[in-house]
Amino acid sequence: MQLTIRQLNKTYPNGVRALQDVSLDIPTGMYGLLGPNGAGKSTLMRTLATLQDADSGSAMLGDIDVLKDKDALRRVLGYLPQEFGVYARISAYEMLDHLAVLKGIPGAQRKAVVSALLQRVNLWEHRKKAVSSYSGGMRQRFGIAQALLGDPQLIIVDEPTAGLDPGERNRFYNLLSEIGENVIVILSTHIVEDVKELCSNMAIINNGQVLFAGTPDDALRALDGKVWEKAILKAEVGDYQQRYRVISSKLVAGKPIIHILSDTDPGDGFRHTEAGLEDVFFAKIGAEEVR
Ligand code: ADP
Repeated sequence: MQLTIRQLNKTYPNGVRALQDVSLDIPTGMYGLLGPNGAGKSTLMRTLATLQDADSGSAMLGDIDVLKDKDALRRVLGYLPQEFGVYARISAYEMLDHLAVLKGIPGAQRKAVVSALLQRVNLWEHRKKAVSSYSGGMRQRFGIAQALLGDPQLIIVDEPTAGLDPGERNRFYNLLSEIGENVIVILSTHIVEDVKELCSNMAIINNGQVLFAGTPDDALRALDGKVWEKAILKAEVGDYQQRYRVISSKLVAGKPIIHILSDTDPGDGFRHTEAGLEDVFFAKIGAEEVR
């Protein structure tokens, strides 16, 4: 099973080109769609989830035409939207059971399916509590449980770790990584760590365009030997930005450490450093902003 996206375009009525000739080949396993806010991730996710239409292009999941045969796609889709707003006062068990009815899961199987899912996402002991009383991390795990109803082939999770604390984020990573290898899981995120931890394939998008698609290793290899770092003073940041291709700057113990891109040794006190996925991300995004 593969998801094949070709030349997808979407322009909103206000003139924003949210998708520009997006083409991607998404195999089974965990796929990271990385981009800053406003990149077009949700637009792509919502289009693939049949919630909105593209202006042109195609998307095929195996032999299902995603854009045309919406009912067929919905039967094999699990979706965790960015805003999972159903924080009902009824218990998690009742809520999931209700969603199972809507998914068309027959009555005879429902109890077993709902119980197994609640156990799988580690909410069994909290099944009698209202979803509205859950923490952010518990809600996201409940969101995954509902997305897994009906054994979907394509699972889309849109910005699932935004707002989770580090502990909750780790639990959520563990849960996602346990979802089978034979399904396609697309994870959209602006958090580089999400992709680093979880994804065997990835794309970087910005301004509705695909800037990179491949494995994280491919992305890192492209920067091999080209990333240099130096600790500088806060007041010097602007100066360095003028003189070098600064791809990132982070504070370590209150002092900025900058990473620059250079094919050759820049000297000037810079040390060679191994490229990280953050460097890939900011190098791609930065290049886009300069252009
Ligand atoms: P992301 O999920 O990566 O943050 P979105 O797909 O939400 O990106 O948005 C991509 C661009 O399209 C942004 O510039 C956003 O402001 C714009 N956009 C999103 N939805 C709409 C809409 N319904 N009408 C107009 N513009 C929109």
